[in-house]
Amino acid sequence: MIQSLKQSRSLDYNRKLKQFLPGGVHYNFHVPWEETPLHFVKGEGSFLWDMDGNKYLDYYAKFGAMLLGHNNVEYNTELKKWVDKISAVNHCDIDVEVCELLSHYIPSAEQVRFGLSGTEVVLNALRLARAYTGKNKFIRFDGHYHGNADPILGGKSVDESYTPVEYKSDYRGTKGREDIAFQNSFLIPWNDIDVLEKLVKERHEEIAAIMMEPICINGGAVMPREGYLQQVRTLCDKYSIVLIFDEVITGFRVGLGGAQELLGVTPDITTLGKGASGGALPVSIIAGKKELMDLYTNKSVIHAGTFNGYPLGLAAVKTTIDLLAKDNQARYKLMESNADKIYSIFKSAAQSQGVPLVVQGPLTASCFHCQDELLSDPAGLKMETMLRNIIMNSSLQKHGILVATITRMYPNLMVSEKDLEFFKEHIDPAMELAKADMKEAGLL
Ligand code: PMP
Repeated sequence: MIQSLKQSRSLDYNRKLKQFLPGGVHYNFHVPWEETPLHFVKGEGSFLWDMDGNKYLDYYAKFGAMLLGHNNVEYNTELKKWVDKISAVNHCDIDVEVCELLSHYIPSAEQVRFGLSGTEVVLNALRLARAYTGKNKFIRFDGHYHGNADPILGGKSVDESYTPVEYKSDYRGTKGREDIAFQNSFLIPWNDIDVLEKLVKERHEEIAAIMMEPICINGGAVMPREGYLQQVRTLCDKYSIVLIFDEVITGFRVGLGGAQELLGVTPDITTLGKGASGGALPVSIIAGKKELMDLYTNKSVIHAGTFNGYPLGLAAVKTTIDLLAKDNQARYKLMESNADKIYSIFKSAAQSQGVPLVVQGPLTASCFHCQDELLSDPAGLKMETMLRNIIMNSSLQKHGILVATITRMYPNLMVSEKDLEFFKEHIDPAMELAKADMKEAGLL
């Protein structure tokens, strides 16, 4: 019997919460699996403590948003200054500095606007692309996720009509939106330039935008094939299609210039969110070429939002950039090298127990998969792997290691040797438990 953490107070508390909060959770997807709801009381650097007094390594990081570490003193001091200085107003004396910083670091950010959620800026990016091109449809890709809105959620591409279909077992599918998701988009496999090229050639007169995660983290941290993004860029230029990179995860996380800088391909519009404001409060950003953003200047396209550009949020963005840029971006290197060591320990623990495991993607936004080969298609995860991944996720959690649904691992700016020590100490019993549960489920 492998001893797991006692989480009874969290579970009791959550039972009460369920009376008032559906499912006792703040969000849900259409998955036949539930995370154990833990209620946390304290955070420090990479670590969290729950109501039962258990300590956790937080590589869940609020779906990647918690980029600066818990209780980052420099960040908190700056935020407190702004709370004392002013509340919400339309414009204040931080605006120029933040916009200049974003424009300096993000290749596609000739101009920027702000929102609150990733979903919101994605929808605004699509509106901008439609207005700019005078066309109505957009292309999206299997396995990519762009937010909680009817036109962009889930579905599956099935045939050469490229019209997405509702897919019952799709965990990003939902009732309550009929065919809204499917009227305006073509859904196709990613990383296959031939499929994309064929569709664009046939239907470019209808296509306003191609939207993708340039590194598909939501589909399992799959990198674009060599040359793919450049080929997409060329197609967009040739057929007057707006290229949208959804960098809500990769923006700031894989480097200050995001995946576009890393991979050397500049989109027309970029969407950012999550880590852009450090992790304590929400800000999202739509960044784009001036020619497109001019549609806001000349008011032909609406962009509204009560809290857009609120001072505390902009202060959070500025402080995040300052802290990431500090000491010649030394902290990125530390995040990467620490993460690399953790993933090596993770893989050797799996190997010594005979559990299949690979880790892939950028070091600061990686995914594991309980299979022998790297995942090359964001929509290609086998059911057996998915089930093993679920078991691994919950075994890790029961032994104090938190990773985001289901296999994502997000380090933060405050990583230290302590992360490594903790991981080393907890991974073996977690792996033993995972192995036992996988065996019992007939998955090993
Ligand atoms: N785009 C991507 C790539 C995301 O990962 C997410 C959130 N997981 C979103 C958009 C939506 O962001 P939000 O949840 O803040 O609306």
